[in-house]
Amino acid sequence: MTLVSGWGRFPVVDTEMLRPRSFEAVGEAMASGAVARGNGRAYGDAAIGAARTVAMTAFDRVRSFDPATGRIRLEAGVLLSDLIDTFGPRGFLPFVVPGTRFVSIGGAIAADVHGKNHHCEGGFGRYVDSILLRTGQGETIEASREQNSDAFLATVGGMGLTGVILEATLRLRTVETGWIRERVISASDLDAAMRALDAGDAATYSVAWIDCVARGKDLGRSLIYLGEHAGKDELPAGAAAFPAAKDPGLGVPIDLPSMTLNRFSIRAFNELYYRMGARRAGGSHVVSLYPYFFPLDSLKDWNRIYGKRGFLQHQCVIPENGARAVLGEILDRVARRGDASFLAVLKKLGQGDGILSFPLPGYTLALDFPVKDDILTFLDEIDRLVVAAGGRLYLAKDARQSRATFEAGYPALSRFNAIRKSLDPAGNIRSKLSQRLFDEV
Ligand SMILES: Cc1cc2nc3c(=O)[nH]c(=O)nc-3n(C[C@H](O)[C@H](O)[C@H](O)COP(=O)(O)OP(=O)(O)OC[C@H]3O[C@@H](n4cnc5c(N)ncnc54)[C@H](O)[C@@H]3O)c2cc1C
Repeated sequence: MTLVSGWGRFPVVDTEMLRPRSFEAVGEAMASGAVARGNGRAYGDAAIGAARTVAMTAFDRVRSFDPATGRIRLEAGVLLSDLIDTFGPRGFLPFVVPGTRFVSIGGAIAADVHGKNHHCEGGFGRYVDSILLRTGQGETIEASREQNSDAFLATVGGMGLTGVILEATLRLRTVETGWIRERVISASDLDAAMRALDAGDAATYSVAWIDCVARGKDLGRSLIYLGEHAGKDELPAGAAAFPAAKDPGLGVPIDLPSMTLNRFSIRAFNELYYRMGARRAGGSHVVSLYPYFFPLDSLKDWNRIYGKRGFLQHQCVIPENGARAVLGEILDRVARRGDASFLAVLKKLGQGDGILSFPLPGYTLALDFPVKDDILTFLDEIDRLVVAAGGRLYLAKDARQSRATFEAGYPALSRFNAIRKSLDPAGNIRSKLSQRLFDEV
C-alpha cells in the first residue's frame, strides 16, 4: 500500500498504486474499488481509489496531429505542459488551460477544467471532440457528442467515475505568438472588482487576484488581469515568437512550520502585492504566457508552505444574480478570520459543458486555508451561504464538503448517477471522493 494525497496534502490515504503499461492492463487494474489518477493536481480525494489507484501518466504519446485543422489525438496521460512546449512553437495552444500546466489530458477532461476565458469560451470539455473510454463494465468505447453521447457528457466533468479515459481528440487554437497582451486594473473594493470583471466580459482572458484579508472600506480590493493573445508585431524587439518555459527549479525544500503563514505575514504580503500591482495598472504590456497563465508553477512544491497538515482550497461559484451580497458576506467572514492565504482568486464563469461540470454563469471565488483549528466548521458555515445562493463547490478542489451540500449544488446528479450505473453496473469504479459524496452506503 502507498500513502497518497492530492495537491492540498489532505487527506492522506492508503491505497494500492498500480502503474499499468498497456490499455489491456488498465482494464485489469480497474477491478473493484479503483479510479484513474492523472498528475495528482486535484486538491482533495478525487484521484485516490477506494482500494486501488491507477496511475495514467505513462500513457503519454501523441497519436496524430493535423496542422490544417488543429486536431490532435493523444493518450490521456500527456501533460498540458508537454503539449504547450511541443505545439506552442508551431503556433498551436490548447483553448483552455487551468492555473497550472502540470495536469494530464485525462484529468483536464474529468474535471472539465476552466481557465481565465471560461466566461466567453467555455471549459476544456468544449474542445474535446471524442474520447476512448474504458468503462467500469470492461468495454472500450469511443464517445463523442454524436456517438455514446451520454457517456461522453457524463465523463466530461465526471471526476473519473464513468471509466478511464485512454485517449482523446482535442481541437487546438492557432496563435501567432506565445505572448499575452496584459492589462492590469486596480479595484479598490469588491464593487469595483465586480464592475471591472463585468466590463472585461469582452476580453478573452480575465481574472482577479483578491486581497482576502482587507476589511472595511477595502473589503474585496483586487487586481484584475485582462489578456489577449499578442501578435508578432507587438513583441519587444528581439523577443522570440514563443518564449521558453522557465524550469521551476527553485522549490520549497521542506514543510514550513505552520506559523510561517499567519495573519501578519499574509497581511504584509497582500499589502505589498496590491500596491505593486496598482502601480502597473492602466496601460497594457506584453508578458510570456507562462507567468500569465501559470504564475504558481514557478515555485516548485509550493504546497509545502502550509506545513505538514496540508491545506484546503474552497472554490465556490455563485450565480450572477445576488452574487454581490453573498461574496461580500463570505469575504467579510474570511477577512475577520484572517488566515486565508494570499492565493485568492475571483473570476467569472459561463455555462459548463458536462452533466456534472462545475461552472455555471456567475462568479467563482477560490480561497486557500491551512488545515488547523476549527477550519472544517468554518467552511461548513460558508457552504451554507453558497447553497442558499444557489451555488456549488468544485469537486476538483474539494476534500471535505458534506453530501448534503454536494447534492444541493448539483441538480443533474441523478441523471449522472443513472449513466454511471449503466456504464459500471457492478460499481467497480470508486474513489475516496465518490465514497464520501456519491456512493450508496
Ligand atoms: C496550482 C493549481 C492551479 C489550478 N488551477 C485550476 C484552474 O484554474 N481551473 C481548474 O479548473 N482547475 C484548476 N486546478 C485543478 C486541476 O486543474 C484539476 O484538478 C485537474 O483535474 C488536475 O489534473 P490531473 O491530471 O492532475 O488529475 P488528477 O488530480 O490526478 O485527477 C483529477 C480527477 O481526474 C480523474 N482522472 C485523471 N485521469 C483520468 C483518466 N485518464 N480517465 C478518467 N479520469 C481521470 C481522477 O479520477 C480525478 O477524479 C488547479 C490545480 C492546481 C494544483
